[in-house]
Amino acid sequence: MTDKSTKIIPLADLRYASRVPTVPARFLAPTGLLGDTLGRPLRDLRISVTDRCNFRCNYCMPSEIFDKNYTFLPQSSLLSFEEISRLAKIFVAHGVEKIRLTGGEPLLRKNLEVLIGMLARLQTPAGKPLDITLTTNGSLLARKARSLKDAGLQRVTVSLDALDDAIFRRMNDVDFPVADVLKGIDAAQQAGLAPLKINMVVKRGTNDDQILPMARHFRHSGAVLRFIEYMDVGATNGWRMDEVLPSSQVIERLRAEFALVAIDPNHSGETAERWHYLDGGGEVGVISSVTHAFCGECNRARLSTEGKLFLCLFASQGHDLRALLRSQHDDEQIAAAIGLIWQARSDRYSELRAGLPPDASPASAAKRVEMSYIGG
Ligand code: SF4
Repeated sequence: MTDKSTKIIPLADLRYASRVPTVPARFLAPTGLLGDTLGRPLRDLRISVTDRCNFRCNYCMPSEIFDKNYTFLPQSSLLSFEEISRLAKIFVAHGVEKIRLTGGEPLLRKNLEVLIGMLARLQTPAGKPLDITLTTNGSLLARKARSLKDAGLQRVTVSLDALDDAIFRRMNDVDFPVADVLKGIDAAQQAGLAPLKINMVVKRGTNDDQILPMARHFRHSGAVLRFIEYMDVGATNGWRMDEVLPSSQVIERLRAEFALVAIDPNHSGETAERWHYLDGGGEVGVISSVTHAFCGECNRARLSTEGKLFLCLFASQGHDLRALLRSQHDDEQIAAAIGLIWQARSDRYSELRAGLPPDASPASAAKRVEMSYIGG
């Protein structure tokens, strides 16, 4: 059951719109100092391990499109764990320090702990362990938290869009109870997956009345709650600017009840603006891709579950690394190809969108890749 006012646009099947990267004849070994055309380094790799999900959140995977007739990717086209960890090793040589596992819903991928174990053995050129995290809808977390931690996962981000059970069930559109996600969050905390982050996508008129109940619930819990502006990701969610609640208004609502102080980002490229509750209630944040673009420091690359490299969440074209993997190119050659791709990167969609009238989108909008395919 979704709010029928949102117009759903048929999906232009994008999974196959990509190009096979060029492997330069001569190349240098990775230095970890790769920069794109805006001088942004490559530090954060998001790996989608499945295009499937057991939720149908309207802003990401509307059930009208991702229905029982939708054909998900066959197992044979997915990267194997060996292929994923081989690519991850190459990206680490280029400077990646953080790997986020995403989906769809990553915990639907069988034996994910095996992949986490493989990634946890990787080290940066300086000999440091990677920061390995995962974004989940929390539906399977109560069962999996301990084994994920034991496999080497350090922390987790849970997407939770409401505390009110009726609103939550309406937003996930599969009638999934909020209580089970809260149990998953507890299990993650007990397993020591920390810091634990909670992401709430705020859609004006749908769940913005949940901002204060969520803040009251997660204050003093040790979890960091972040409010995300509803984004025009993909080409199917019927995004409208008047359904965006700017982060400035979210902070205003919080400040009406709590004393807050702004704090510095943890590191360059961090997407969240951070605040502390003055009474020691912990941290809360906002992620403002629509009203306060952060492309200037964007050091993120995304790998689809089939091995296509996307350089922006709003990209419309990928680079088929699987083709190189499965055509006997060696790691040096693949590293050189990735280096060329990143060096030519100029993506800054949110900045471009910000310069356009409301509801208008940059030219490539119609062919944007789906978030459920490359992860948030
Ligand atoms: S819009 Fe693209 S370039 Fe800008 S922050 Fe998001 S992913 Fe990075």
